[in-house]
Amino acid sequence: MRSEEVYEKLKQWVEDNRSHTMLGAPAQYIPALANQDRDQLGICIMDIDGDTYKAGESDVTFTLQSISKIISFVALCHFKGLDFVLDKVDVEPTGESFNSIIPFEIHRPGKPFNPLINAGAITVASMLPGDTVSEKYERFILFVEGMIGHSLELDQEVYESEWKTAHRNRALAYYLKESNLLDLDVEEALDIYIRLCAICISLEDLAKIGLVIAHDGYDPIEERQIFSHDVARIAKVLMVTCGMYNSSGKFAAHVGIPAKSGVSGGILASVPPKWHSPEKAFRKGCGIAVFSPAIDANGNSAAGTMLLRQISEEWDFSIF
Ligand code: GLN
Repeated sequence: MRSEEVYEKLKQWVEDNRSHTMLGAPAQYIPALANQDRDQLGICIMDIDGDTYKAGESDVTFTLQSISKIISFVALCHFKGLDFVLDKVDVEPTGESFNSIIPFEIHRPGKPFNPLINAGAITVASMLPGDTVSEKYERFILFVEGMIGHSLELDQEVYESEWKTAHRNRALAYYLKESNLLDLDVEEALDIYIRLCAICISLEDLAKIGLVIAHDGYDPIEERQIFSHDVARIAKVLMVTCGMYNSSGKFAAHVGIPAKSGVSGGILASVPPKWHSPEKAFRKGCGIAVFSPAIDANGNSAAGTMLLRQISEEWDFSIF
């Protein structure tokens, strides 16, 4: 049953954290993202009954960007098995920015450090099942649509904008190709990766995905297992250790919820059951999605991070 008190608190906390949008700016390097309204801050929390609690600008849609990386990792593991995927990408944090080339150049680990940096995500996207980019995209989108229960669209403007300016990702893809890590052509690998980043999503959809990850791949609303417990476990490990790029340590310390951010300003968070949380509505876990397009120097939504921090502190959501 929806609690009005929870709803009122969320509204208050959104307003408390709105000023933190000043601590960041919309991503400039993808021109179609640069003009997003920087003052927006919205949240949606979904509980295990499918009830949603929304506050702020909660009916917006935005592109997945790097949030797609955790979903494509889960999808690939689901389709091809965890061992297959972990043979191709590692699960180590880097301490470098998400689009850094340095971990390749200096350490040469033989595979990307993790699937949440661009090098790893391009590799993962390229291995999705299907012979063509369109088939791979189709398999991925069907997987996500199956989880949220309705169809999704690609934001063509964002896709084209990133495609035209993806110089660094193109360089990374060439590195991957030179290191024999890509079976696809460079341009095809880049194409599928950028398509996944440009999928349009709502906060409610993201909260649903967060809920399923929190429940170890089980959808408590539809009562069915969507992907395996093992895949969900590794996904949560990656979210904690690498999900917020190189502020993942600080995020773990101050928020402590497995999460994945994207440069459009979204954050997907998965709160596992926490029986002694002071807020009874979410003791059986929940999915949280926040959106605020002003991102900080590490590429994370500035106000979104602070809002999650306040929620975690107030309701004792940290897993640590
Ligand atoms: N599409 C973006 C890029 O590759 C995603 C990055 C992100 O959200 N951190 O640069």
